[in-house]
Amino acid sequence: MKKNNEVSIKTINIHDQLVWLVDFYRKPGDGVVSMCRIIAGQLNLSGSKETKWTWNYVHQVLNNKMIPSPKFVRTVFRLYSRECKKENIEFEQIVVVAPKGFIEKNSVVNVESKKCANPKCRLFFIPTNPVQKYCSIACKRDFNRRKSCQ
Ligand SMILES: [Zn+2]
Repeated sequence: MKKNNEVSIKTINIHDQLVWLVDFYRKPGDGVVSMCRIIAGQLNLSGSKETKWTWNYVHQVLNNKMIPSPKFVRTVFRLYSRECKKENIEFEQIVVVAPKGFIEKNSVVNVESKKCANPKCRLFFIPTNPVQKYCSIACKRDFNRRKSCQ
């Protein structure tokens, strides 16, 4: 599935998406459990905070032993679409503002930029982890200070 560019992102089902993700994340020597753990971890990062899936949940769905919840289906689709984009990616050269010496010329950045969650800032930034909401620690502090003043 991974090598077939004709497969449209939307037409393949949840099970195929999960299989694709296994293929995408799997490193040589990875066992089934650690594989499912990695996927569960990725899904938990992109899902909501209240829902945490276990490796066993992923494993059961992967082996068609369980019908996944709609939330799981949605989160798998989101992760799949995101990773799929990385796979069939088209590159462009853009101007990036970074601290001096941080980014080497012609560096490849495989992360989507995000808008800072501080309404007073709204800068776009490259998150260093998927849950990062603010462009900087200073911005996060500024936002929390404002909130506590209200
Ligand atoms: Zn900011």
